[in-house]
Amino acid sequence: MPELAEVEYFRRQWDIGIGHRVLKMSLHPRKHLFRGTDTAALRRSLIGVRLLRSEARGKRMLFFFSDDNWLGLHLGMTGKLRVESANFRPAKHDHLVLYQRDRALVFTDSRQFGRVQFHHGKDEPVWWNSAIPEIASASFRRAFFEAFLNRHGKAPIKAVLLMQPGFSGIGNWMADEILWRAKVLPSKITRSLSPKERAAVFRATRFVARESLRLMAPDLSDPPKNWLIHERWRSGGKCPRDDTVLRRARIGGRTTAWCPRCQR
Ligand SMILES: [Zn+2]
Repeated sequence: MPELAEVEYFRRQWDIGIGHRVLKMSLHPRKHLFRGTDTAALRRSLIGVRLLRSEARGKRMLFFFSDDNWLGLHLGMTGKLRVESANFRPAKHDHLVLYQRDRALVFTDSRQFGRVQFHHGKDEPVWWNSAIPEIASASFRRAFFEAFLNRHGKAPIKAVLLMQPGFSGIGNWMADEILWRAKVLPSKITRSLSPKERAAVFRATRFVARESLRLMAPDLSDPPKNWLIHERWRSGGKCPRDDTVLRRARIGGRTTAWCPRCQR
Protein backbone atom coordinates (compact mmCIF):
# COMPACT_ATOMS: atom_id res chain seq x y z
CA MET A 1 0.00 0.00 0.00
CA PRO A 2 1.44 3.38 -0.97
CA GLU A 3 2.63 5.41 2.02
CA LEU A 4 3.74 9.02 2.38
CA ALA A 5 6.73 9.08 0.03
CA GLU A 6 5.18 6.82 -2.61
CA VAL A 7 2.05 9.00 -2.69
CA GLU A 8 4.24 12.06 -3.16
CA TYR A 9 6.09 10.31 -5.98
CA PHE A 10 2.84 9.51 -7.80
CA ARG A 11 1.47 13.02 -7.24
CA ARG A 12 4.47 14.50 -9.05
CA GLN A 13 3.92 12.27 -12.11
CA TRP A 14 1.15 14.58 -13.33
CA ASP A 15 3.24 17.76 -12.83
CA ILE A 16 4.14 17.76 -16.52
CA GLY A 17 0.46 18.48 -17.25
CA ILE A 18 0.35 21.66 -15.14
CA GLY A 19 -0.73 24.69 -17.18
CA HIS A 20 -2.38 22.57 -19.86
CA ARG A 21 -6.04 22.02 -20.66
CA VAL A 22 -7.95 18.78 -20.42
CA LEU A 23 -9.34 18.13 -23.90
CA LYS A 24 -11.14 14.85 -23.35
CA MET A 25 -11.57 12.20 -20.73
CA SER A 26 -12.05 8.49 -20.34
CA LEU A 27 -13.52 7.07 -17.14
CA HIS A 28 -15.27 3.97 -15.88
CA PRO A 29 -18.22 5.57 -14.02
CA ARG A 30 -19.72 2.41 -12.59
CA LYS A 31 -16.53 1.30 -10.89
CA HIS A 32 -16.39 1.19 -7.11
CA LEU A 33 -13.74 3.87 -6.82
CA PHE A 34 -16.20 6.50 -8.12
CA ARG A 35 -18.71 5.70 -5.33
CA GLY A 36 -20.56 8.85 -4.22
CA THR A 37 -19.03 10.92 -7.03
CA ASP A 38 -21.09 12.67 -9.71
CA THR A 39 -19.13 11.41 -12.69
CA ALA A 40 -21.31 13.33 -15.18
CA ALA A 41 -20.42 16.58 -13.39
CA LEU A 42 -16.77 15.54 -13.24
CA ARG A 43 -16.69 14.99 -17.00
CA ARG A 44 -18.63 18.17 -17.80
CA SER A 45 -16.50 20.34 -15.50
CA LEU A 46 -12.99 19.11 -16.19
CA ILE A 47 -13.11 19.12 -19.98
CA GLY A 48 -11.75 22.45 -21.16
CA VAL A 49 -10.09 23.51 -17.90
CA ARG A 50 -6.40 23.69 -17.00
CA LEU A 51 -4.55 21.72 -14.37
CA LEU A 52 -3.12 24.40 -12.05
CA ARG A 53 -1.45 22.63 -9.11
CA SER A 54 -1.62 19.67 -6.78
CA GLU A 55 -0.80 18.70 -3.24
CA ALA A 56 -0.64 15.56 -1.13
CA ARG A 57 -1.83 15.06 2.41
CA GLY A 58 -0.89 11.77 3.92
CA LYS A 59 -2.16 9.16 1.50
CA ARG A 60 -4.47 11.52 -0.39
CA MET A 61 -3.92 13.85 -3.32
CA LEU A 62 -5.76 16.90 -4.56
CA PHE A 63 -5.52 18.25 -8.10
CA PHE A 64 -6.77 21.77 -8.57
CA PHE A 65 -8.08 22.88 -11.97
CA SER A 66 -9.12 26.28 -13.31
CA ASP A 67 -12.72 27.49 -12.87
CA ASP A 68 -12.79 26.12 -9.28
CA ASN A 69 -12.61 22.42 -10.02
CA TRP A 70 -11.08 19.99 -7.52
CA LEU A 71 -10.19 16.37 -8.12
CA GLY A 72 -9.33 14.18 -5.14
CA LEU A 73 -7.49 10.89 -5.60
CA HIS A 74 -6.72 8.20 -3.05
CA LEU A 75 -4.42 5.42 -4.18
CA GLY A 76 -5.84 2.75 -1.87
CA MET A 77 -3.80 -0.45 -2.11
CA THR A 78 -2.80 -0.53 -5.75
CA GLY A 79 -3.42 2.94 -7.22
CA LYS A 80 -0.81 4.54 -9.46
CA LEU A 81 -0.51 7.73 -11.51
CA ARG A 82 1.46 7.92 -14.71
CA VAL A 83 1.71 9.76 -18.00
CA GLU A 84 1.21 8.28 -21.44
CA SER A 85 1.19 9.66 -24.97
CA ALA A 86 -1.82 11.57 -26.31
CA ASN A 87 -3.04 8.60 -28.37
CA PHE A 88 -3.09 6.27 -25.35
CA ARG A 89 -5.85 3.62 -25.26
CA PRO A 90 -6.98 2.87 -21.66
CA ALA A 91 -6.77 -0.73 -20.47
CA LYS A 92 -9.11 -2.45 -18.04
CA HIS A 93 -7.67 -0.91 -14.87
CA ASP A 94 -7.07 2.61 -16.22
CA HIS A 95 -10.18 4.03 -14.58
CA LEU A 96 -9.55 7.71 -15.19
CA VAL A 97 -7.61 9.23 -18.07
CA LEU A 98 -7.34 12.98 -18.67
CA TYR A 99 -6.20 13.77 -22.18
CA GLN A 100 -4.23 16.92 -22.86
CA ARG A 101 -2.86 17.96 -26.25
CA ASP A 102 0.51 16.25 -25.81
CA ARG A 103 -0.16 13.55 -23.22
CA ALA A 104 -2.60 11.45 -21.22
CA LEU A 105 -2.69 11.63 -17.40
CA VAL A 106 -3.60 8.15 -16.22
CA PHE A 107 -4.98 6.86 -12.91
CA THR A 108 -4.79 3.06 -12.63
CA ASP A 109 -6.11 0.96 -9.76
CA SER A 110 -6.37 -2.79 -10.22
CA ARG A 111 -7.97 -3.60 -6.86
CA GLN A 112 -10.06 -0.42 -6.52
CA PHE A 113 -9.55 0.31 -2.87
CA GLY A 114 -8.67 3.79 -4.08
CA ARG A 115 -11.09 6.62 -4.61
CA VAL A 116 -11.88 9.44 -7.01
CA GLN A 117 -13.72 12.50 -5.67
CA PHE A 118 -14.81 15.67 -7.38
CA HIS A 119 -15.87 19.09 -6.20
CA HIS A 120 -16.80 22.29 -8.00
CA GLY A 121 -16.79 25.52 -5.99
CA LYS A 122 -14.73 28.43 -4.67
CA ASP A 123 -13.94 26.83 -1.30
CA GLU A 124 -11.87 23.72 -0.87
CA PRO A 125 -13.96 20.55 -0.61
CA VAL A 126 -15.05 19.36 2.83
CA TRP A 127 -13.50 15.95 2.17
CA TRP A 128 -10.10 17.63 1.83
CA ASN A 129 -9.72 17.82 5.61
CA SER A 130 -6.83 20.18 6.26
CA ALA A 131 -7.02 20.08 10.06
CA ILE A 132 -4.64 17.10 10.28
CA PRO A 133 -0.99 18.19 10.48
CA GLU A 134 1.41 16.74 7.92
CA ILE A 135 4.17 14.79 9.66
CA ALA A 136 6.99 16.22 7.59
CA SER A 137 5.81 19.80 8.11
CA ALA A 138 6.39 22.18 11.02
CA SER A 139 2.69 21.88 11.92
CA PHE A 140 3.28 18.39 13.31
CA ARG A 141 4.04 19.46 16.88
CA ARG A 142 4.90 17.64 20.06
CA ALA A 143 1.71 18.80 21.83
CA PHE A 144 -0.46 17.35 19.05
CA PHE A 145 1.49 14.08 19.16
CA GLU A 146 1.19 13.79 22.97
CA ALA A 147 -2.53 14.55 22.94
CA PHE A 148 -3.12 11.96 20.22
CA LEU A 149 -1.20 9.28 22.13
CA ASN A 150 -3.15 10.13 25.29
CA ARG A 151 -6.45 9.76 23.44
CA HIS A 152 -5.48 6.26 22.29
CA GLY A 153 -3.61 5.13 25.41
CA LYS A 154 -5.20 1.66 25.48
CA ALA A 155 -4.04 0.63 22.01
CA PRO A 156 -0.62 -0.82 21.15
CA ILE A 157 1.71 1.92 19.93
CA LYS A 158 1.99 0.22 16.52
CA ALA A 159 -1.78 0.47 16.03
CA VAL A 160 -1.75 4.16 17.05
CA LEU A 161 0.95 4.98 14.50
CA LEU A 162 -1.33 3.59 11.77
CA MET A 163 -4.22 5.95 12.67
CA GLN A 164 -4.41 8.50 9.83
CA PRO A 165 -6.01 11.34 11.88
CA GLY A 166 -2.82 11.40 13.97
CA PHE A 167 -0.15 10.05 11.67
CA SER A 168 -1.09 11.21 8.20
CA GLY A 169 0.53 9.07 5.52
CA ILE A 170 2.17 6.57 7.87
CA GLY A 171 1.56 2.98 6.85
CA ASN A 172 2.81 -0.42 7.88
CA TRP A 173 6.47 -0.34 6.87
CA MET A 174 6.98 3.21 8.11
CA ALA A 175 5.42 2.43 11.51
CA ASP A 176 7.80 -0.52 11.94
CA GLU A 177 10.74 1.63 10.87
CA ILE A 178 9.78 4.31 13.42
CA LEU A 179 9.46 1.89 16.34
CA TRP A 180 12.68 0.10 15.46
CA ARG A 181 14.52 3.42 15.31
CA ALA A 182 12.94 4.54 18.61
CA LYS A 183 13.69 1.12 20.20
CA VAL A 184 10.10 0.62 21.32
CA LEU A 185 8.27 -2.73 21.26
CA PRO A 186 5.37 -2.44 18.77
CA SER A 187 2.91 -4.31 21.01
CA LYS A 188 3.58 -2.05 23.99
CA ILE A 189 0.38 -0.40 25.23
CA THR A 190 0.68 3.29 24.45
CA ARG A 191 -0.05 4.62 27.93
CA SER A 192 2.78 2.52 29.38
CA LEU A 193 5.45 4.18 27.24
CA SER A 194 7.94 6.17 29.32
CA PRO A 195 8.43 9.90 28.60
CA LYS A 196 11.78 8.99 27.07
CA GLU A 197 10.18 6.43 24.76
CA ARG A 198 7.48 8.89 23.72
CA ALA A 199 10.15 11.45 22.87
CA ALA A 200 12.05 8.84 20.86
CA VAL A 201 8.90 7.87 18.91
CA PHE A 202 8.19 11.54 18.14
CA ARG A 203 11.73 12.11 16.86
CA ALA A 204 11.76 8.89 14.83
CA THR A 205 8.36 9.69 13.28
CA ARG A 206 9.59 13.01 11.95
CA PHE A 207 12.89 11.54 10.84
CA VAL A 208 11.38 8.62 8.91
CA ALA A 209 8.73 10.86 7.29
CA ARG A 210 11.21 13.53 6.20
CA GLU A 211 13.94 11.19 5.08
CA SER A 212 11.65 8.91 3.11
CA LEU A 213 10.14 11.95 1.37
CA ARG A 214 13.57 13.37 0.61
CA LEU A 215 15.05 10.13 -0.67
CA MET A 216 12.12 8.23 -2.19
CA ALA A 217 9.67 10.83 -3.52
CA PRO A 218 11.84 11.97 -6.49
CA ASP A 219 12.17 8.53 -8.14
CA LEU A 220 10.90 5.81 -5.74
CA SER A 221 14.50 4.89 -4.95
CA ASP A 222 15.19 2.65 -1.98
CA PRO A 223 15.67 3.96 1.55
CA PRO A 224 19.24 3.73 2.95
CA LYS A 225 20.70 0.24 3.36
CA ASN A 226 20.72 0.45 7.16
CA TRP A 227 16.93 0.85 7.40
CA LEU A 228 14.73 -1.96 8.69
CA ILE A 229 12.59 -2.05 5.52
CA HIS A 230 15.18 -4.12 3.65
CA GLU A 231 15.03 -6.88 6.26
CA ARG A 232 11.45 -6.91 7.40
CA TRP A 233 9.97 -9.17 4.71
CA ARG A 234 13.04 -11.28 4.08
CA SER A 235 12.93 -14.75 5.61
CA GLY A 236 15.63 -14.80 8.29
CA GLY A 237 15.73 -10.99 8.13
CA LYS A 238 18.04 -9.45 10.72
CA CYS A 239 18.24 -6.25 12.72
CA PRO A 240 20.53 -3.85 10.81
CA ARG A 241 22.01 -2.70 14.16
CA ASP A 242 22.93 -5.96 15.84
CA ASP A 243 22.14 -8.86 13.45
CA THR A 244 19.48 -10.33 15.74
CA VAL A 245 16.86 -12.29 13.77
CA LEU A 246 13.64 -10.25 13.58
CA ARG A 247 10.33 -11.42 15.08
CA ARG A 248 6.97 -11.05 13.39
CA ALA A 249 3.37 -10.94 14.62
CA ARG A 250 0.06 -9.32 13.73
CA ILE A 251 -0.41 -6.07 15.65
CA GLY A 252 -3.10 -3.51 14.84
CA GLY A 253 -4.29 -5.88 12.11
CA ARG A 254 -0.98 -5.70 10.23
CA THR A 255 2.08 -7.91 10.04
CA THR A 256 4.69 -6.30 12.23
CA ALA A 257 8.44 -6.94 12.39
CA TRP A 258 10.74 -5.95 15.23
CA CYS A 259 14.09 -6.73 16.81
CA PRO A 260 13.66 -8.60 20.10
CA ARG A 261 16.99 -7.25 21.32
CA CYS A 262 16.59 -3.52 20.54
CA GLN A 263 12.85 -3.32 21.16
CA ARG A 264 11.76 -4.64 24.55
ZN1 LIG B 1 18.38 -4.94 17.11
